[in-house]
Amino acid sequence: MFNLILFGPPGSGKGTQSERLIAQYGLKHLSTGDLLRSEIAHQTQLGLEAKAFMDRGELVPDEVVIGMIRSALDANPQAKGFLFDGFPRTQAQSEALDALLAQRNEAINVVLALEVSEEELVKRLLNRGLTSGRSDDTNEEVIRARIVEYHKKTSAVADHYRKFDKVVMIKGEGSIDDIFNALCAEINKRQAA
Ligand code: ADP
Repeated sequence: MFNLILFGPPGSGKGTQSERLIAQYGLKHLSTGDLLRSEIAHQTQLGLEAKAFMDRGELVPDEVVIGMIRSALDANPQAKGFLFDGFPRTQAQSEALDALLAQRNEAINVVLALEVSEEELVKRLLNRGLTSGRSDDTNEEVIRARIVEYHKKTSAVADHYRKFDKVVMIKGEGSIDDIFNALCAEINKRQAA
């Protein structure tokens, strides 16, 4: 199995690059943002609870997203590997993910971290808000709140995996193709090893 975390702040291009990476490597895409939006669309209890946090630009409680990931892992026993997108986002989520994978005799192979300047992030998210139908992308205050959450809670995820020497920084500005090629180069190196 090859298990990859695509890491980076909101708007860094995780969704765009994930689509290409799963096609290239046959990985199962697990995006907690997409899973949460699907719960909201189906008006489930979980979705209703999560929506209030998401509308404020805050993180949804750890136990909610960890439960969703546990179910997704259980539901895909045949996967060649997983691409985690938007998860883990806190230290507790990182530890929970490591434990869930360890129970399956698996681990994270690499964390690819996209680096993008804050002004570029805000610009991209406001731009995405024009067409995405995502209410959290139309309000600059909510966008800034998400970036604050990222610095406060999510940057710890990179620190966690750095301890295990698993983090590679990738420049997330430039053409989509160039960024994709840089990501692939890192994956290929590790798959060959
Ligand atoms: P983005 O990274 O562009 O903000 P996502 O689709 O990944 O978009 O996430 C949207 C929102 O969903 C986040 O602002 C947060 O409220 C919630 N969310 C997604 N993933 C997680 C997670 N792993 N832990 C807590 N909240 C999450």
